[in-house]
Amino acid sequence: MGPTFLSQLEQVLMRWPDLRMQPQENASAVELCGTLDFTAIHAGSPEIADAYELSIQFPIEFPKGLPQVREIGGRVPKTFHTNPDGTLCLGTDFRLKMIARQASGAVAYLERVVVSYLYSYSHLIQFGRLPYGDLSHGDQGEIEDLLSYFEVNQVTIAAELLKATQGIGAPLSLHFPCPCGSKVPLSSCHGAKIGKLREALSREELSILWMALATKVEGGRRLNRLSLLNSSVLIASREVDFARLYYMQRNRPGWKQRPAK
Ligand SMILES: [Zn+2]
Ligand SMILES: [Zn+2]
Repeated sequence: MGPTFLSQLEQVLMRWPDLRMQPQENASAVELCGTLDFTAIHAGSPEIADAYELSIQFPIEFPKGLPQVREIGGRVPKTFHTNPDGTLCLGTDFRLKMIARQASGAVAYLERVVVSYLYSYSHLIQFGRLPYGDLSHGDQGEIEDLLSYFEVNQVTIAAELLKATQGIGAPLSLHFPCPCGSKVPLSSCHGAKIGKLREALSREELSILWMALATKVEGGRRLNRLSLLNSSVLIASREVDFARLYYMQRNRPGWKQRPAK
């Protein structure tokens, strides 16, 4: 593990001194166990101070790999956004990757993703409702989040936009008409959103995401079948279990984390 990882780990332990490093079971992640406390507020919702007992598998290759988080104090029931393996369902796969790779570090990622999850659960328990909407669990949630990200309402259009992240076929040119069908150049339409995805996710990750969505498009009508068939990612994508990508919306205007005391 490099110094970057160690300094990130140090920052996490300084921010939440009740977290403790556990003896390592594998070399690819460090387990942090203990209390994660927060004071947070969301626009239109009250400030909440709370603390949860967590186990965080923190991957050495963060932000390429994402932390796996379990709530071990028995407060969050399995019926609330929990993955089949018992880890918290913190958001859709592509959103979490984007946040991790754009965040200024591990503390920022945990605050944005884990604290906002815990805040929303505390809010649900205290006030009987979530402070912001959540996405469906499973395939539907991933589709909802992609539609929300691109601000479009058709899966076929989202698939075309994702395809433009691939570098399959013509290279991305900002002068080209946007694939969303607006007849406006990419540069003044979905170019920035496509660019952000290309920056944050690897080509392979984007291919998997696109293929997962493309298989959801009925009959694949608007997709270029030839490029699908010729693409090597087709084979890889058959092994993707789409249901294992998880979802909760993260693009929440007004969210902010109170600085630590
Ligand atoms: Zn969920
Ligand atoms: Zn567009």
